[in-house]
Amino acid sequence: MLRWQNGAEVYHHKLLEWRPEKNPRVSTVNPLDPATAQNTATGQNTATGQNTTTTPAPSNPLDNVRIVLVNTSHPGNIGATARAMKNMGLRHLYLVAPQRYPSDEATWRAANAADVLDGAIVVDSFEAAVAGCSLVIGTSARERTIPWPLLDPRRACAQAYREAARQPIALVFGREDRGLTNEELQKCQLHIHIPTNPEYSSLNIAMAVQVLAYELRMTHVESELTADAMDGWDFAYANNDDIERFFTHLDAALTEMGFLKPDAPKQTSARLRRLFQRTRLDAMEINILRGIFSSAQYWVRRAKGGQGDGDQ
Ligand code: SAH
Repeated sequence: MLRWQNGAEVYHHKLLEWRPEKNPRVSTVNPLDPATAQNTATGQNTATGQNTTTTPAPSNPLDNVRIVLVNTSHPGNIGATARAMKNMGLRHLYLVAPQRYPSDEATWRAANAADVLDGAIVVDSFEAAVAGCSLVIGTSARERTIPWPLLDPRRACAQAYREAARQPIALVFGREDRGLTNEELQKCQLHIHIPTNPEYSSLNIAMAVQVLAYELRMTHVESELTADAMDGWDFAYANNDDIERFFTHLDAALTEMGFLKPDAPKQTSARLRRLFQRTRLDAMEINILRGIFSSAQYWVRRAKGGQGDGDQ
């Protein structure tokens, strides 16, 4: 029987034991259970009155990204870097021993990114610039003698973005004339080489910053799109307990139908699991599917009963 309850479809079948939750959106929260009674909007535990939220909502990962320029000689490049950063939503600029800074040329080239330039932190060592960062990525215009973990800009920036959701990370750029030293590159966990024409592989430093800042931005945009796609979703994703009960029900129903043989290899169950795990079922979808299983079980039992096997 299909009926509407609190605006939500729920399936009931009077002959079977299983009953779906009345309102799947809040089914996992018991206001009397201190462990689960949490107001998702305020983080307040409605049973104890205490705030139980330990991890704050993640801030914008781009705010956890540092752009580090080592020993830059041309102030115009510092200004152009600030502009490239601001265009892509980055704001933390670290300058390791810049050769000419502050400078009017840097200010002109920064255009409307004067705030990024004004906020730049000048330090005297590589270590000071990357202090507190969990991931330090060095950039290089050419292959170096010692092989090092090397990623292309897209993959490296996707990893950097993921890590920046938790801790600060740094992208480090070298001197215009000779890049980063081997010693500096070896202080990085990861290297990036922007694919370029091998006959002329060296980009202007601000342009190299632009390329990587763009990749970070694209990762950010994609993560926002993914988040948005589920934002207005009407039901929460099913929780793990519900999903496990769903799989148990699926196996039971398919076994009753004779589709799954209890003593046969479990490959089919595993494949069905993989199929449903891929789809990220929401609580209502679980209810619908379980309603279908229950209905199938009912008719199978009736059919068997009709043949004299009994109904229970
Ligand atoms: N002649 C230097 C080039 C330095 S270019 C050399 O051979 O190393 C200045 C900086 O811009 C580099 O240190 C690096 O940080 C960045 N850069 C330039 N081209 C790059 C590329 N193709 N891939 C990654 N970073 C690059």
